[in-house]
Amino acid sequence: MNKNRIAYTKPSISELEVEYATDAARNGWGEKCYDYLHKFEVTFKEFTGAQYAIATSSCTGAIHMGLSALGVGLGDEVILANTNWIATASPIVHLGAKPVFVDITPDTWCLDPACIEAAITPKTKAIIATHIYGNLCDLDALKKIGETHNLPVIEDSAEALGSYYKGHHAGTFGTFGVFSFHGTKTLTTGEGGIFITNDKDLYERVLTLSNHGRRRDQVKQFWADEIGFKYKMSNIEAALGCAQIERADELVSKKRDVFHKYQSSLSDLIDREVITMNPEYEDTINGYWMPTIVFSKETFITREIIQKAFSEANIDARVFFWPLSMLPVFDDVSENLTPNSFDICARAINLPSYCDMSDDEIDRVCAVIQNLAANSLSGESL
Ligand SMILES: *Cc1c(COP(=O)(O)O)cnc(C)c1O
Repeated sequence: MNKNRIAYTKPSISELEVEYATDAARNGWGEKCYDYLHKFEVTFKEFTGAQYAIATSSCTGAIHMGLSALGVGLGDEVILANTNWIATASPIVHLGAKPVFVDITPDTWCLDPACIEAAITPKTKAIIATHIYGNLCDLDALKKIGETHNLPVIEDSAEALGSYYKGHHAGTFGTFGVFSFHGTKTLTTGEGGIFITNDKDLYERVLTLSNHGRRRDQVKQFWADEIGFKYKMSNIEAALGCAQIERADELVSKKRDVFHKYQSSLSDLIDREVITMNPEYEDTINGYWMPTIVFSKETFITREIIQKAFSEANIDARVFFWPLSMLPVFDDVSENLTPNSFDICARAINLPSYCDMSDDEIDRVCAVIQNLAANSLSGESL
């Protein structure tokens, strides 16, 4: 068996995170109970360029409150890509609305603007654009569709820290954007998320919802003006976040380094179109949260074959998201309605990519991929 296990992800925690979290645990109470929380919101706004931010206990909670603030409710429909994490869809269901799954483009792996128009009905209330694995959606096209049909476009940027579209950070184009700080994400607070927007009214609405429906100008104590939510981030989590955001450029640049090392080691396979990896288009920067390879159809290499090879080499392999419509909890969207979301995940894998991966570890991962490709191309049975 090959050496130590290579995990697909782990957070990058320095002395700074330990220092801030310790300070929050010791002193962050009473009058100081929101100091790190407010500082985190301010620094995150500065990092992304958003005007308003509300830190939350999860990205899922941020989506839930944002959709609720937009009035998404019983019988409404929300359009999103079939290739997605369940967290993007479940708040829609919790609000009594229906997720409508559309296909992805084969090159971005993000929702295909051309498929959206066909899915719009009088019940459609919003479009959620998820920047999958750091890859950016075609935001210009989405914005146009949103404007034409008077629909809010929401950016699920949970995976897109450090991704920029035409000079602007992901999450700042849409009606609102959300991020996740789950332990697997580029910037982490253990669990956590954030809601950002440039729309003052929407911000005020979500702020009220996020505080159990208590309006900011409400002077009566313990007085709720409506039924709201409780998705607050804790001050201790925010302390971790303050350290991580100070290091955000470093974290993103380490992620990009890992991607570029994979890309250069695998350049021969990429040039011969045996595999493709995350794209980075002109005028965009990809934060490369999750370096991913997709084998060409000609190789006949499947997800299961890749998983077996990685497991034998003692390396974590993380499957490309299943089409959500495959899950028994959703209405079936047959394969021929979203062919790309069914096809790509069947021959793809996410590669290990934590910030502090060594060159040796990256080489070990590349060797597995090169072996698979060589065996397949030489016609050997796998
Ligand atoms: C991680 C993730 C989420 C959920 O984030 P939580 O903080 O765990 O709620 C939502 N959407 C996408 C695309 C994600 O990758």
